[in-house]
Order: sequence, then structure tokens, then C-alpha cells
Amino acid sequence: MNDTTRSGGPRIAVVGGGITGLAAALRLRDRLPADTEITVYEQSGTLGGKLRTGSLAGATVEFGAEAFLTRDPAGGDSAAVALARRVGLADALVHPAIGRAALAIGGELRPMPPGTLVGVPGDLAAVAPVARPAAERDADGGRPLLDPDEDPTVGELVRRRLGDEVVDRLVDPMLGGVYAGRADELSLAATMPGLARAARVEATLTGAVRAAMAAAPRPAGTPVFATVNGGVSRLVAAAAEAARAEIRLNAAVRELLPVPGGWRLVIGPTRDPELVEVDAVVLALPARPAARLLGGVDVAVGALVGRLDYASVALVSLALPGPPDGAAASDRGAVPGDLSGFLVPATEGTLVKAATFFTSKWAHLRRPDGTLLLRASVGRHGEEHLLQRADDELVSAVHRELSGLLGAELPEPVDSHVQRWGGALPQYAPGHLDRVAAARAALRTAHPTLALAGAGYDGVGIPVCVRSGETAAEEIIKVLGVSRA
Ligand SMILES: Cc1cc2nc3c(=O)[nH]c(=O)nc-3n(C[C@H](O)[C@H](O)[C@H](O)COP(=O)(O)OP(=O)(O)OC[C@H]3O[C@@H](n4cnc5c(N)ncnc54)[C@H](O)[C@@H]3O)c2cc1C
Repeated sequence: MNDTTRSGGPRIAVVGGGITGLAAALRLRDRLPADTEITVYEQSGTLGGKLRTGSLAGATVEFGAEAFLTRDPAGGDSAAVALARRVGLADALVHPAIGRAALAIGGELRPMPPGTLVGVPGDLAAVAPVARPAAERDADGGRPLLDPDEDPTVGELVRRRLGDEVVDRLVDPMLGGVYAGRADELSLAATMPGLARAARVEATLTGAVRAAMAAAPRPAGTPVFATVNGGVSRLVAAAAEAARAEIRLNAAVRELLPVPGGWRLVIGPTRDPELVEVDAVVLALPARPAARLLGGVDVAVGALVGRLDYASVALVSLALPGPPDGAAASDRGAVPGDLSGFLVPATEGTLVKAATFFTSKWAHLRRPDGTLLLRASVGRHGEEHLLQRADDELVSAVHRELSGLLGAELPEPVDSHVQRWGGALPQYAPGHLDRVAAARAALRTAHPTLALAGAGYDGVGIPVCVRSGETAAEEIIKVLGVSRA
């Protein structure tokens, strides 16, 4: 089937219509001959996966991923920024108006210490207002902190070198903000690769943090984050359009089987399945559905991929009435106008683990009527039971807790929205990177026209997912041995 001399060009299936799948489809389109047939199969009724722009009190807000890193760790624009440029959205990129965030400690908000790497300090004095590091533990022992193959959890390393408070009050809430995961469960190498690399060279943790930061410098004045004015779903739509792929919605791929020269996909309902044959497949799915499909290809690879666990979260968005007529525009009531949001350590015992003040953080979201838009994130790995309550109960619990943390009763919401993301955030346990490498190596040998991509493998951030999809596309292009003249 991969005889590309036949008319019609190669046929490639991209399974999964999240940002990874769309980035893969676009890269295939950009690099393969014009007659290449690219089809994106998406089981739900919409593209975008965890990117979902919605409406709250008539305003455009994010019910899923909100923003992305602007810089690539290796320097230059991140893959998400490059994608935005490629699809004509460079002018729509906007950056946070304020970057000041806080940590809730002992029921009150304290400024987030600057200059940490996901909460791990390079300068102990900077974190003193929120945590007392056990400085004496981080003595230079004359050898690197980690052996070449060591992959501790983040918590293991930081507790050993700087004590519990730094983990519980800084690192754990920061990792919780990204992964809804726990520092004591997440692999250092998978979640903080720069720090893991530095820890294999440096003899102290603070030294490793400084080295990791120096290895990925950010030019002064470069904003850390960007989003798309009008919503991140614009990036999804623009990538889909630029890929000029056939988009099949409500098309779950239920089976994937190797056939001579290519792949057979079984799509749609069991009673009325559709069979499709293609030359190559990019599997851009979360690990669980990917593992189910891989079970029909290579049981061992399916088992490796299926080992990945996921956390569930709910995002509760509230629209609150703005200050009364005549009040100064800067008076935002209980919501501080100079704060983009805050994180709450698990040790505080609240349901809310993070809050974002959309209308303070993003100038483009500010409303002439002063309506305040904010979003709280609820749910940590292993605490799924806490999400098992009705939407209105979640809304009132969040409203009550935010009032407590902000130290003033918030007004009743004029609108609210609860977005549940069940099993959505991958929990990279130690050994994750080795399992992914082993799965990919096995496929490369036995099934080189099948590539794995997405948050289940390479990292959760949007730029990493974009890069992962593009890399998978490049691999397929190389194996098919065809490209645009
Ligand atoms: C609540 C939340 C907030 C986040 N915030 C941010 C943020 O602010 N910044 C950031 O950089 N990252 C953020 N992330 C992470 C980031 O959004 C995700 O890691 C990324 O979007 C994952 O993209 P993906 O394409 O790999 O997977 P997904 O988005 O999960 O897409 C996979 C797609 O595959 C489809 N699918 C599943 N099974 C099948 C099947 N059998 N057949 C066909 N299709 C199937 C699914 O319906 C889905 O659309 C957030 C994640 C969550 C959950």
C-alpha cells in the first residue's frame, strides 16, 4: 500500500483531533505531496481535546487550557507560538497584563517567591517568606546529586536536599497547578527535564536550579506566556483549516490492525463499523485509548503505554458583578486587581487548588461593565471522590472557599460554569521516559509507519504537544520516503 507510485498519493490517518493530532496533520500537509490524503479521526463532536474556549456571562473564556509558554527550552519561539504564526494568528497572540501570583499559606495570600524553577529555589533567601528551607541538607558532597540513570520523584529529591516545607508549600502546589499531581509521585526527569539534567552534574540542588535556569535563558522583557485573543480554540480551528485534512468528527477509532503494507482502522459503532485502509497512522490519543488500540498491534507496547495513570480535575468559572457605579475602576472589591491568581498547597485542606483572575490577568478580557471573571481549579490526583458532587455544589463550595481565602465575601455570581476533565492530566511516574522510549523503539522496529504522539508521552504543555505531533509526522514522512519536491 505504501507504493507511492499509485495515483492518489499516500493515505495517512491521524487518530485524535486534539492539538497534537492537528499539529501532526498540518506538518504532514506542509511536507508531503499535494495529493496526500490526510484524515483526522476524532471521537467527540468537536476538535481541540483539552483546548476548549467557551462563553461565560457573554465573555469568551477558556474552559480548558488557558495559555502556553512562549519560549522553547532550547531557545527561540515555542512550537505553539510557531504554530500560531504558521496559521496566521501571530497578531492575535496576547500576553498576561500582570504576572504577580500568590500562595495561600495558613489561610492567607502571600506573594509567590520569584526566581524558582517550578517552586525549587536557586536562592534560599527568596523563598523565606513562604517556606523555611533546610539549608544545611544541601551541602556540597563533592559528587553529582543524581547518578546518570537515577529518576527520583521531584518530592524525593527536594525533600532530601531542602526539607518538607519547600515541597509542601512551593513545589507540590506548582506541580499541582500543571499536572493536578503530587511532587512525591511525579518523575523529576519527565516533569523537570532541565533540572534533572543539571542534577546529574551539580553537587547541590540550588546549584542545579541555577544551572538549569542559566541553560534556558529568557531575553529580558520576553513574556513567559501567551494566549490567543478570541480563545485558544481559534488555534485549533486555524490549524485544522491549514492542514486541509478531511476531518471526521464523532468517529471513534475502535481497532487498529496491521495489514500488509499498512493499517486497517475500524471506525464507528460496533453494529455498523467502517473499515479504512491507510499507509501510515499517527496515534495522537491519551494513553488509555492509545493502549487499547495498541493491544491489537503489539501487546507489550500496549501494556507499556497503558501504565500511565491520569488525574481528574474540574474547572469552576465564575462571573461576578463588578464594582458599583461610581466606584474607581481599580476597586475590584475582594478580588485584588494586581494579582493574576493564586495556588493553594494541599496542606491547606481546601477543595480549591488554584484560582485565576481572568479579568485581572488578561487585559483583553476586561469588561466595560466591570464584571469579574475568574476560574478555580479543583481536584488532585487520588482525590477524584471530591469531584463527585453536583455542579451547583461545586460552584458554592468554590465561592465559599475563595471568599475565605480572599478574606471578604464575594458577591453572588451572575454566571457560572463547571467543566469536568475526567482522567485528563497524565501522571508521569518515575521510569515514564524509559517506558515511552521502549514503546517507540519497539514500534520503530516492527511497525515504522505507526507513530505515537501527545501528552501521554512527551509532556503536557501545549508547545510540547505541538512538537510531539510534528515529530511524529516527520517520522512518518521519513519512513514513507516521500516529500514535497
Ligand atoms: C484542565 C486542563 C488545563 C490545562 N491547561 C493548560 C495550559 O494552560 N497550558 C498548557 O500548555 N497546557 C495545559 N493543559 C495541558 C494541555 O491542554 C494538554 O496536554 C494538551 O491539550 C493535550 O493535547 P493532545 O492532543 O495530546 O490530547 P487531547 O487534547 O486529549 O486530544 C486527544 C483527542 O483524541 C480524542 N480521542 C480519544 N480516543 C479516541 C479514539 N478512539 N478515536 C478518535 N479520537 C479519540 C479525544 O476525544 C481528544 O479530542 C491543560 C490540560 C487540562 C486538562
